Amino acid sequence: MPYLLLGIDDTDWEGGGCTTYVMYSFIKYLVNEGRIDKVIGLPRLTRLNPYIPFKTRGNASLSVILSIDDEGEAEDYVETMKDLIDNMVKPTGKTSPGIAYVVLNDVSKINPRLTWFYEKAIRDVVTMDLARRVAERVGAKLIGGRGIIGALASLGFTPRDATFEFTSYRAEDTERPIIDPYDVKLWDEVTGPFTFLNIDGEHVLIEPHGPDPVLFGVRGDSPYHVLAMGNYLANKYGAVGWILYVTNQGTGEHRSHASSIVPYRYADITGVIVSLVFDEHGHAYLTLDNGVKAIVYRHLGISKDLSKCIGCLVQVWGGVKPDDELSIYVEGIRVLHDRYVEIRNPKCPICGGPMESVGRSGLLRCKRCGFEDKIPRVFEPRNQWFYAKPRKSEYRHLMKPGERIGLEGLALYMPKPSLWVY
Ligand SMILES: [Zn+2]
Repeated sequence: MPYLLLGIDDTDWEGGGCTTYVMYSFIKYLVNEGRIDKVIGLPRLTRLNPYIPFKTRGNASLSVILSIDDEGEAEDYVETMKDLIDNMVKPTGKTSPGIAYVVLNDVSKINPRLTWFYEKAIRDVVTMDLARRVAERVGAKLIGGRGIIGALASLGFTPRDATFEFTSYRAEDTERPIIDPYDVKLWDEVTGPFTFLNIDGEHVLIEPHGPDPVLFGVRGDSPYHVLAMGNYLANKYGAVGWILYVTNQGTGEHRSHASSIVPYRYADITGVIVSLVFDEHGHAYLTLDNGVKAIVYRHLGISKDLSKCIGCLVQVWGGVKPDDELSIYVEGIRVLHDRYVEIRNPKCPICGGPMESVGRSGLLRCKRCGFEDKIPRVFEPRNQWFYAKPRKSEYRHLMKPGERIGLEGLALYMPKPSLWVY
């Protein structure tokens, strides 16, 4: 039996809409037609390179795999998707919707070129021209404007790691309800670590603030945990519907080990910190011995540690900003070799008590028993690899949150829940 892979992108606009809502509407159409069993796995929500300049709000594209009887059925679905986009999307400003689709006989054999294109689209800048050439090589068809790039990329999503998102929608003519932090905290405790980035202190992270139809989104590694939390909140806050997506969010898949500095591209550089300047906001500007510049924004919460890092060998990663100096916007740093050591007084050899210096002579005296002698100090390297983690509210869609470490790949073993759209 053949399969249709159908992708869409760029259907949100300044002031409304959301690409996920178009996909949700398409899935609801299948429900109403009694064809929901045609959907293989879950619909896929793929986030693309967060550093490209002309992205839509969340830089999300979507795709779905459908089992079909013949090519005619595929054309019907594509037509339906086209009509939905025409009816739902207000093509204002930079909005330029696109559709990509391909019919395959074996869905486990995605053309490696398509996978390559997906990987490029999450780490690099890709042109419409490249999308057209790749589509031609893999036998995919493209309809529409710039959205064809993300739409085609989404078809190539073959996850090694994945997460889930329970996305709920609100009635568009009503005011956005405010989700009580108490509810989120409670569910965060109950479902963690199988849900993530729910709340930061009192700051609810699951609810967007824009004009889009999304009421909230619960992200996690287990579909059952996001469903439990999502269902409760959807009922309480009057969602008009919801859907479960499998996504690349929180997987860190956009990280690459590219050691070159190219605008909008991801870079991962190792070098010795030779200078460090703080501005009045507390952001740190680093220069490495190889000339690479990097900006560490205050919210990473490591500025204080960094101030003792001049001369340290570090690994720095993040997206490259296209300013004059092509600085790396740092997503993380770790110290590979620390050049600083801490010097402490030893414990008293007689009673184990704390010792203090007496004058300049290097003489130490025990505060407890009064023992005095010249004893060597203890040299302790900080020996600490620190790994910068931004505040929870500062995570971009693709960055991997610390609470996910150790859960990678779990999603691929999770059976599809029988109820995944409402
Ligand atoms: Zn002592």
